[in-house]
Amino acid sequence: MTECRIADPFEHLVMLSPHDTANVINATPIGICITNAEGIFEMVNPAYCHFYGYEKEELIGEHFTLVVPKAHRAKLSQLHDTFIAGEEAQELRQEWEVRCKNGEKRTIIAEAARVHGDDGAPRKVTFVVDITSRKRLEQQLKQANERLDHLAHHDELTGIFNRRAGLIRLEEELNRCQRYDTKLSVVMYDLDSFKHINDTYGHGIGDDVLQEMTQLIANGIRSTDILVRLGGEEFLIIMPEVDIASAYQAADRLRREAAATPMTTHALTVTLSAGVASYMKSSTTRLLDRVDKAMYRAKQSGRNNVMIAEDVS
Ligand code: GH3
Ligand code: MG
Ligand code: MG
Repeated sequence: MTECRIADPFEHLVMLSPHDTANVINATPIGICITNAEGIFEMVNPAYCHFYGYEKEELIGEHFTLVVPKAHRAKLSQLHDTFIAGEEAQELRQEWEVRCKNGEKRTIIAEAARVHGDDGAPRKVTFVVDITSRKRLEQQLKQANERLDHLAHHDELTGIFNRRAGLIRLEEELNRCQRYDTKLSVVMYDLDSFKHINDTYGHGIGDDVLQEMTQLIANGIRSTDILVRLGGEEFLIIMPEVDIASAYQAADRLRREAAATPMTTHALTVTLSAGVASYMKSSTTRLLDRVDKAMYRAKQSGRNNVMIAEDVS
């Protein structure tokens, strides 16, 4: 029969002398400090001093909030006191903003443990890991993601919703109409003879017209209306809770304002043709089709005009 031996988990553990322990603490790249019940530094290791830019002598005897920005001092002091006095949580792991001697703010993860010294008094041992660069990267990544998200949903030239995002919004609004039996109207408009503007004054001036016209329309609609660039010089205004008569009035007012506002450095008169339609319990495609046909009739009538969609479903 073979001998059955239970592994001793401590068999490879080498016992450290107090001198070795001190060497480890001094050599470790992790900042370590010990504060007493009053929050006064009793011990700081070289990594701690190096990180904060202080000499050991400048820290020992000082209150730990020396390395905390003013705005967080009261809160951290209170947390320190609670932790020292606490009976349950023996350990604490938190992310903090701290302040180095040169005024630089950095972000750390502080892991703390409550210990009792030989004198029986409680102390807090804190291990500090610098996560400033990781935090900065996270911030940059977050901003890049927000920018990407914005680009995915908005038109770059005019800043309003692009076609894809706009049609999703329309679908959402139509679902709401169906559920709550509310009204909704849409206005589709297209700039008249825009190709002529591009051909005569150049693409740059054409872009200026698109931006200025978008500004004019955005200023003239309600905050609850949703403005979408469907593509090229064709746009859609989604008007939740608006009936066909009010939508027509709004569209015609915008048409008149556009025609009366000189655009770009060339003071161009730019007109638009629009169609108006209201939701009639049919699909998004059907609504867009009806409003598109109405806009086409406005073009056919000689442009600079607004037409209401026919009620056929
Ligand atoms: P209509 O009155 O029938 O609408 O005529 P139009 O000239 O406005 O229409 P057409 O479809 O013939 O021309 C639209 C022009 O819009 C052609 C295209 O090059 C231009 N366009 C589309 N997108 C942009 C853009 O982002 N910037 C500029 N400057 N032009 C654009
Ligand atoms: Mg056009
Ligand atoms: Mg067009």
